Amino acid sequence: MIRVVTAGVVALSLTGAAGTASAAASGTAAGAASAASTGTAARPVPTGKAALTRNPIYRTGEFDFTECAELGRRPDDVDSYKLYLDHLMDCLNQSWAEEFKQAGLSFAKPRVRFITKPAKTGCGKYPAPYAAGIYCERDKTMWILIYKNQLADPSEFELFQVIAHEYGHFVQDRAGILPAVDRLTRRVSRATWYAYSRRLELQAECLSGAFIGSVWHSLGRDQFDWDDLLDYKIGDVLHGKRASIVYWLKRGWNGNGPAVCNTFTAPASKVA
Ligand SMILES: [Zn+2]
Repeated sequence: MIRVVTAGVVALSLTGAAGTASAAASGTAAGAASAASTGTAARPVPTGKAALTRNPIYRTGEFDFTECAELGRRPDDVDSYKLYLDHLMDCLNQSWAEEFKQAGLSFAKPRVRFITKPAKTGCGKYPAPYAAGIYCERDKTMWILIYKNQLADPSEFELFQVIAHEYGHFVQDRAGILPAVDRLTRRVSRATWYAYSRRLELQAECLSGAFIGSVWHSLGRDQFDWDDLLDYKIGDVLHGKRASIVYWLKRGWNGNGPAVCNTFTAPASKVA
């Protein structure tokens, strides 16, 4: 079976350190927008290094919502895929709204666009190289491309993980992690930028694993689907080595919540 690259990309990582300033400015604007959505006074979104290493999202428990049965899809039927993905988004929104509530942070749902053809996003043209999906910090939107080979195979599991991963980037944005990285990487070497990128990407993988692990029993999947997903992971300098990706996906899976996903205090060997 031909596979597309499974790694999602934070759109910012494509522009590199030099292009992040305006995105950082827009990124911080979203934080306080929707305290009303949780019905309680939210704490301020953390900033600086503390946002990365001591984020309140790490102090939340396992996901409360553990049911997310996949809807059926029909081959080459885009509408059935969109219904499947909308349902998955509902699960992610429920799961993460509860975690944000526990963290005392405000929450609002992300925007999401499912596309089958190239599109112009707030972060430039997409599809971009090596990205199965992107979370664009500037337009606060998850852009998910449904590939031809995915459309032909309604049993594929890759899209599920791509969406959980991009949702992880939205969580990072909302929790102050992406904006903090933007600010901390404005004038850093390329090597330092790559190191930050890997901690972000591996954290998104961990967050996706945590969600998938929490709902796994409701999916009707078997070990093959999970092993297959891990087998096709490809590492690179922005996302980490394959071994790192597998480590953080499994760690999330076993942890069932964001508490185990603090890549920013992990030793360099775990985020290589
Ligand atoms: Zn990513």
